[in-house]
Amino acid sequence: MSITPPRDKSRLGTRTRLVHAGRDPSQQHGFVNTPIYRGSTVLYESYDAIQNRRSEYTYGTAGTPTIRSLEAAWTELAGAAGTVLTPSGLAAVTVGLLSCLKAGDHLLVTDSAYRPTRVFCDGFLARFGVETTYYDPTIGAGIAALMRGNTAAVLTEAPGSQSFEMQDIPAIAQAAHARGACVLMDNTWATPLLFPPHERGVDIAIEAGTKYLSGGSDLLLGLTSANAKYWPALRRTFDQLSMCAGAEDVFLALRGLRTLPLRLREHGEQALALARWFQGRPEVARVLHPALPEDPGHAIWSRDFLGSSGLFSIILEPCPEAAVAAMLDGLELFGMGFSWGGFESLVIPFDCAPYRSANAWAPGGPGLRFQVGLEDLDDLTRDLEAGFDRLRAAS
Ligand SMILES: *Cc1c(COP(=O)(O)O)cnc(C)c1O
Repeated sequence: MSITPPRDKSRLGTRTRLVHAGRDPSQQHGFVNTPIYRGSTVLYESYDAIQNRRSEYTYGTAGTPTIRSLEAAWTELAGAAGTVLTPSGLAAVTVGLLSCLKAGDHLLVTDSAYRPTRVFCDGFLARFGVETTYYDPTIGAGIAALMRGNTAAVLTEAPGSQSFEMQDIPAIAQAAHARGACVLMDNTWATPLLFPPHERGVDIAIEAGTKYLSGGSDLLLGLTSANAKYWPALRRTFDQLSMCAGAEDVFLALRGLRTLPLRLREHGEQALALARWFQGRPEVARVLHPALPEDPGHAIWSRDFLGSSGLFSIILEPCPEAAVAAMLDGLELFGMGFSWGGFESLVIPFDCAPYRSANAWAPGGPGLRFQVGLEDLDDLTRDLEAGFDRLRAAS
């Protein structure tokens, strides 16, 4: 048994590759994992070495062996040319956007984007002379009509945050590339395991590692990967911002990476089962989950995605706000809180209407977004049944 990584990875499956990715025990005294390297200063061997930066590691912000481990592993998983690690998922979005935009540029952003991404575009980017237009998430090749001479980038996210519209990423990428624009995608929901972003035409892909890579609601991390064309700009922008991730968070993410396929499969199966259960409930008007055949985005999902994860939404039949409050307040197994991707189930009420600008959000009833954890499904449905009893009693 060798303590060096497998030599030929080309024939290995994804799970095997994830077990070995970014890891070389022969460089760690035989220990299985790359440990947590903490540090700012890196010592150089000589005058010549420090004058000419002749060293694999130069300074803490530029990377440590722990950081290189995860960068390399994610680059391999995403099929990218390179990856940078940021202290949060939102920072991964912002470093991606900043690496392909300059003052005077125009940016197209899906109306279904993660809301803090919009806040960055409308605030920070506007202040630095970048104009953002929001587009209908289901626009597909029609994006061409919105492109201007100065459109430098198109940001996609599929499925949409909270609202779960699917996007035709290959069609959008083709139209954007024809005009020389960069295509970014927030791929947090699928991860590269369920949607290989660069293979599908995405130039810069974003993952909030805070979610499934952690799997434990115990860290904050972002990963931004790029194809060969955009990798130099991404790395340069990252270095200029020096917005580096914390050593412990990166270590925990590496730990999460090894079990990611198993956890994601379980989250996905549980969520789909719960989505079907909701379809049979009279209190539920609509279930927003692209893996359901009834979903308007199902055809695109079947064509482009390799599976579904643990997050989806439902639209309740019209009912008073107090009834929704009664349902949620009494839940024992579903926590109410932002973020997702951990082992525990969560629910949040949501309403996209106040901020959508390309197409109106009027689903006809209150929206709830569910993150389905690793609990026993029967326990979750019993908790929700009691919740629906309270909802009806308060209606
Ligand atoms: C959570 C999330 C982010 C941001 O991640 P943080 O680490 O919380 O900043 C970005 N995009 C999507 C789709 C998310 O769900």
